[in-house]
Amino acid sequence: MKSSHRAGLENFPPYRQGKTPQSINGFEPHKLSSNENPFPPLPSVVAAVAQELGNINLYPDIGAAELRHSLALHWSVSPENIAVGAGSVEVASQIIHAVTNPGDLVMFAWRSFEAYPLLATVAGAVPQPIALNPEGGHDLDAMAAAVTARTKLVFLCNPNNPNGVVLESAAVEAFLQKIPSDTVVVLDEAYIQFNRSADTAIGIELFRKYPNVAVLHTFSKAYGLAGLRIGYAIAASSLIENLQKVAVPFAVSALAQRAAMESLRSGAELQERVDVIVSERRRVTDGLLDAGLPVWPSEANFVWIDSGSGTAALAEVLAGHALSVRVFPEEGLRVTIGSPEANDRLLDAARQAAESFDTVPSQRS
Ligand code: PMP
Repeated sequence: MKSSHRAGLENFPPYRQGKTPQSINGFEPHKLSSNENPFPPLPSVVAAVAQELGNINLYPDIGAAELRHSLALHWSVSPENIAVGAGSVEVASQIIHAVTNPGDLVMFAWRSFEAYPLLATVAGAVPQPIALNPEGGHDLDAMAAAVTARTKLVFLCNPNNPNGVVLESAAVEAFLQKIPSDTVVVLDEAYIQFNRSADTAIGIELFRKYPNVAVLHTFSKAYGLAGLRIGYAIAASSLIENLQKVAVPFAVSALAQRAAMESLRSGAELQERVDVIVSERRRVTDGLLDAGLPVWPSEANFVWIDSGSGTAALAEVLAGHALSVRVFPEEGLRVTIGSPEANDRLLDAARQAAESFDTVPSQRS
């Protein structure tokens, strides 16, 4: 039967959520497929949310005034430079809706965050993916060369999801100087708190220099609020004004706003947790390398195993240890850094996998 719905949706894939692990062989399952924070929420954040629960008969503040004020102080910008959304993925969607006309191009590196092409297409724009370089980094020269008058928006993902590779500051500045100054460039910094690279690009610094730069941050990862859905953009006030026009009204709950404000106050406590995840990332990377698996150095809260044609077999061994990871068939696995127990299990499974395969073929060889 011919659908009366929007043309093309029958071939359009929905966003793929990270798989839930199956409990198996008596192992407690661990989900390492969605880059979630393994720590439970801070008690102070839980208490703030609990207090707010008494008000859920009321709509939230549509303008998130208090939170935008706190974020403005935190970043030394004006509240007019801040827009919030139901997760940074919703803010990314707002940016696409506010910047592009139907048929305009939205450029991003590929592979990168899987939502970019989906959000662009839903908004009526056209995805313009540019292949990563052989080191897994954004090919900024190729990206600059491919910018056309129809390219209204560029996403730069730093560190990149799914491989954890960082964009260097000098390279991003050179890119910004090459492209038209009215092309909006979003630095998606969902994982910035885990990034310890000395020469990384830093969105807020670029925003202060280049008015066409917008910065995307989230409370989902380092702050551990993925379930409450809250993220924000820092950008020129003219863009922020338009983001507010295209946003879904009331998408950000008062619970999320309160949790975000409380989290900003708990920066030091949260930083300790981030430090643990970063040191676990080192331990996991070294352990996987020792086991003989082709893992890349990462500056995010996940690592990329470049398992190429060995991907399905490796994923199966991990599933047999009650670990779910993000599988990119024939390419590799993205594995979130979990709790120390989850990471121990991962390393056990990796050693077992390495014994059962002579070699795990790598795409990069
Ligand atoms: N950007 C990147 C690069 C991501 O990996 C993610 C989450 N997977 C997001 C944005 C969106 O996160 P959230 O909507 O939870 O803020």
